[in-house]
Formats: sequence, structure tokens, C-alpha cells
Amino acid sequence: MLSKDLKRIEDLQVRKNVSLLPLTSFRIGGPAHLFLVPWTLKALEQTVSYLSNRSISYKVLGQGSNLLINDKGVKLVMTLTALNRIHSLQHGRTAHGHPFKTVSVEAGCRLKSLLSWSIRNSLSGLENFSGIPASVGGAISMNAGTNKCSMAEAIDAVQFTGPDGSCWFRRDQLQFDYRSFRLPDKTLISAAEIQFGKSSPDQISRRVRKVMYKRRTTQPIGEPSAGCIFRNPQGDSAGKLIDQCGLKGLRIGDAEVSKKHANFIVNRGKASAIQVMNLLKIIRERVKKETAVELVPEVSVWGMET
Ligand SMILES: Cc1cc2nc3c(=O)[nH]c(=O)nc-3n(C[C@H](O)[C@H](O)[C@H](O)COP(=O)(O)OP(=O)(O)OC[C@H]3O[C@@H](n4cnc5c(N)ncnc54)[C@H](O)[C@@H]3O)c2cc1C
Repeated sequence: MLSKDLKRIEDLQVRKNVSLLPLTSFRIGGPAHLFLVPWTLKALEQTVSYLSNRSISYKVLGQGSNLLINDKGVKLVMTLTALNRIHSLQHGRTAHGHPFKTVSVEAGCRLKSLLSWSIRNSLSGLENFSGIPASVGGAISMNAGTNKCSMAEAIDAVQFTGPDGSCWFRRDQLQFDYRSFRLPDKTLISAAEIQFGKSSPDQISRRVRKVMYKRRTTQPIGEPSAGCIFRNPQGDSAGKLIDQCGLKGLRIGDAEVSKKHANFIVNRGKASAIQVMNLLKIIRERVKKETAVELVPEVSVWGMET
């Protein structure tokens, strides 16, 4: 019935039993019983309106880089990957006389694609985000960043889509926090505006290479993971605390605390969500016992209690 109704929405692709495992960087998770791909903003608006008006809950999938999905899967997933256009809006000068360009980007666009586009167009501003695997929507929703940057500083405006359609909120109306963002009720992120500065492609590429070098030498890039698994406690580092407790290399099944970076859990083959959850529990207990710090997961967990 639900899938029949949804199939009536023009430009909405409705698929059944789609495996989510290859759509996550962790390579873990069961299927989505229904998987929705809107190809236009109108299709997205109609779908969100249909689901919200019937109080049908659904999950939004970005690039799947910060997710731990239940092995049994989830009922209803929508992805915005087909909404990925980028266009320049306007250019001008800041109060200090520096040239800038404002760019509008749909939420399904990958940060990596946006960064490549900005290099080709001599636009700087996203270099410190190099190597963060994310869609624009996912990056905003997690307020992704490093100790040098966060989406909160990069974003000028966000477009939300909810039961009553889409509307833009300016920067001062948005509520970012450390690795979190307050979404207005029953909405998702459908687009954003970002202000870029001007720089030469060579200079931007050099900065990107520097950031990527640091990542490659400190993180288990290339091994399936969901990035940092715990938030950093204020003024401290979750990785350092886990390392101090001697937990690097601790393994349950194929889920292992990375030997390279203790705040990463890597999937060494066929790790299950349960194995990762059990590992999280042990890490939290040990760190609490030995340092009195309560670690809070950064990874978004679907279909299980943390
Ligand atoms: C190797 C590696 C390195 C990483 N390094 C970093 C890092 O340096 N800094 C950092 O902050 N993170 C890092 N991460 C984690 C991850 O890249 C970020 O959290 C990223 O923002 C997730 O974006 P995503 O599109 O993959 O979102 P997903 O993982 O798909 O989703 C994450 C959450 O965002 C929600 N969401 C996604 N799209 C939307 C939308 N359009 N509207 C509303 N909600 C949405 C989802 O429902 C989910 O709750 C890393 C991950 C990996 C695997």
C-alpha cells in the first residue's frame, strides 16, 4: 500500500529490499525494506509531505560515513544523492574588501565533488574539510569538521524541506553545536549556500594535499570505518583516553579498535552491528572505570540503542 502510493509521486524512485551495507563506509547493516530516491526537489517535497502527514517515520541517508546500521535493517530510507547540483549565485566583496562568491549546492552533493568544483573555479574555503567523506546534508547535520574548521563556520544558509515545502534559514537562525545541528521539526536538509573566497587552483590544491597527508598518516584511511566513533570530551581527546586504557587492537569478531587511531573502530571483514555495539560498550566501561570520563558515541546508530 505504502509503496504503491509512493510510486504515484513523479520523479521518485521506489525500490524494495535494498542492501545498505555497500552504501555505508563501515560496510555494516541490513537492508532498507523500502528505499526512496527523489530526483527533483518537487518529488522530495511531495514525499516528505506524504510521509509526515501520515506520521510515517523514515531515515535520511547521506554518504553513509557516520552510520552504524542494525543487522536486521530498517524500514524506510530516503537518500538525496540524486539532488547534487552546484551553481554559483553571486559575487562581491566583503567589508574588508576581499572578493567572495556565494555558491548554492544541493544536499546530496558530496563534499569531495564540491571541493573539486571549487578548485576548478579558483574558490577557496573548504580545504580543511578534505578527506571528510560526506554529503553536504550529512556534513551539516553532523556539523562535521576538525580542530581547524566546522560546517557551522562554512555555511551561510540552509534550505530545509518539511511537510509544508521548502524554506531557507540564514546563518544566524541556525543552531550548530559540537558535531551536531538542530534540525527544525520534521524536516531534512535539502540545500545550502556557502561563501567562498578567491584563490588560485595551485594554492588550494597545495593546502588540500597538506590536509590529506596528515589524515593518511594519522587515520586508518582505506579500512572500513565510520570515522571517529566517540565525540571528544571537552578539552580532551577520546582517542587518547582509549589508547591510555590499552584498548588499541581490542577485537570482537571482525570489529577492531584501530591500531593506528584508537577512536576508530575498523571492520576487518564481516563485522556485525552487534559486534561493534559490544565493542563500544566495553570501551565506554573501561574508559569510565580508568579515567572517570563518560564517552558519548559520535556515530549515528540506526535501529539499536546506544
Ligand atoms: C574515514 C573517515 C574519516 C572521517 N573524518 C571525519 C572528520 O574529520 N570530521 C568529521 O566531522 N567527521 C568525519 N567522519 C564522519 C563523517 O564523514 C561525517 O560525520 C559526515 O558528516 C557524515 O556525512 P554523510 O553524508 O556520510 O552522512 P550519513 O552518515 O549518511 O548520515 C549521518 C547523519 O546525518 C543525517 N543526514 C544525512 N543527510 C541528511 C540530510 N540531507 N538532512 C538531514 N539529515 C541528514 C543522517 O540521517 C544521519 O543521522 C569521517 C568518517 C570516515 C569514514
